[in-house]
Amino acid sequence: MLSTMQDVPLIVSRILRHGSTIHGDAQVTTWTGDAEAPHRRSFAEIGDRAAQLAHALREELGVLPEERIGTLMWNNAEHVEAYFAVPSMGSVLHTLNLRLPSEQLVWIVGHAADRVILVNGSLLALLAPLLPQLHTVEHVVVVGPGDRALLDGCRPAVHEYEELLAGRPTAYEWPELDEREAAAMCYTSGTTGDPKGVVFSHRSIYLHAMQVNMGESMSLTDADTTLPVVPMFHVNAWGLPHATFMTGVGMLMPDRFLQPAPLAEMIETERPTHAAAVPTIWQGLLTELADKPRDISCLKTVTIGGSACPPALMKEFEERHGVRVCHAWGMTETSPLGTIAREPGSALTPEEAWPYRLTQGRFPASVEARLAGPDGELMPWDGESAGELEVRGPWIAGAYYGGEGAEPVRPEDKFSPDGWLRTGDVGVITREGFLTLTDRAKDVIKSGGEWISSVALENHLMAHEAIAEAAVVAVPDGKWGERPLAAVVLAEDAGAVTYQELRAFLGERVARWQLPERWARIEEVPKTSVGKFDKKVIRARYAAGALD
Ligand code: ADP
Repeated sequence: MLSTMQDVPLIVSRILRHGSTIHGDAQVTTWTGDAEAPHRRSFAEIGDRAAQLAHALREELGVLPEERIGTLMWNNAEHVEAYFAVPSMGSVLHTLNLRLPSEQLVWIVGHAADRVILVNGSLLALLAPLLPQLHTVEHVVVVGPGDRALLDGCRPAVHEYEELLAGRPTAYEWPELDEREAAAMCYTSGTTGDPKGVVFSHRSIYLHAMQVNMGESMSLTDADTTLPVVPMFHVNAWGLPHATFMTGVGMLMPDRFLQPAPLAEMIETERPTHAAAVPTIWQGLLTELADKPRDISCLKTVTIGGSACPPALMKEFEERHGVRVCHAWGMTETSPLGTIAREPGSALTPEEAWPYRLTQGRFPASVEARLAGPDGELMPWDGESAGELEVRGPWIAGAYYGGEGAEPVRPEDKFSPDGWLRTGDVGVITREGFLTLTDRAKDVIKSGGEWISSVALENHLMAHEAIAEAAVVAVPDGKWGERPLAAVVLAEDAGAVTYQELRAFLGERVARWQLPERWARIEEVPKTSVGKFDKKVIRARYAAGALD
């Protein structure tokens, strides 16, 4: 029997229409580096300009439905305009990670066959040398200040964003698309292996944005302003641009000012109530604030995800600055919200809440999860039995983009035969559905038939006052197969601490057989393009004899 409900597609243009009318006065503030002169644009203006951009792309550049439009941009108001205009007109927004090595960027643009690239003027020095290799790109649209001379003599036609928009109609007849069509795409940042294209549908973006706003997730309302430090090229800034247009949450956009000092300044001046970023950003901010105190009491909650958040970082934020940290897990393939760590209502005291809050969090209703043991058997949710996490749901990828005209691809190590996403993350789940990740499948240390969690060792080490950062990797061992190597960055005011002391410190916290015998002092933990610990670089340095 069919329902009697209206069949209204969940498409991005509906979010835009809602945000730019009902919440038309809400604002996107873009930091300019000058605390006296941030740039402000209302959601209503963004709606008008998104329509102008769609007209320009369609009528001036001849962009067709389904064609990919790349963006090489920071978090700013113009990027929000592209976020809404491109999918709403039926084309596909492809956010480009500006921190990727240039060969990967070239590969990704070619694989997605981007026809147009919108680029911030401040990033022209990055784009210009690549253009001769970007064979699919016919138009480059430059947004904001920057040295245009860098594009002299380049093949694609060059346009000015503001000139393209000027004088065009501020309304567009957004097509009534099928909600399952592609709206946006993003390549995984490639911590492991080659980048893979994840294509989000209108429906997945819509449903995910609703989840982001829910009380059990980021719980944002029109009384809030959020600061997405997480880049818009990193899994759609975790859904925040879409979520804010649904509920009228203001956005403070950092543009290219992502260093700790300007972040601290913009928080103190613009007073956002929420912010989102990977742990390394917050670690930098805490160090900055210790040197140069600023008032960040406006922040009620900070969402941290993208890699495991060290408990010491969560506690320092809360105890020193009164900011509540909410830990979340996700990946490009999960749009990204997979779990979020809010304690259950029954946890009454802060002490009772911490064990829940230190996990990766609980699965929302639309994300189904299971744990696959070493032979693929399903593991119980008892908080102890570890397995590889597999998930499925309406905003979880079921395949990767195969390239123009090709079928989507479903590599066996990424998708189970029955279609669940194999996350590559190893962990345990409690009866109440709280996930604790113990490692990435590729990072776990397999020592004499037992698994050692590199993340657990890192978290303990980072709680030591002499340690600023620690990365633990598996290195080959003749007797045990693999053993842990701890690479540590000493805190600036650390004084002299010996490896024996650190080993003894760890010895009070983990089983003896898990203690690293190999130690190395490094200046900095290498980071990936989105700020995560890049352990493959440490493994390679060790293999090359450059550590130890
Ligand atoms: P990449 O795989 O290139 O790093 P993603 O940004 O999609 O790209 O990363 C997803 C991965 O990041 C997850 O599979 C997981 O290993 C890790 N991750 C994300 N959030 C957390 C978290 N809260 N705790 C531990 N690991 C996390």
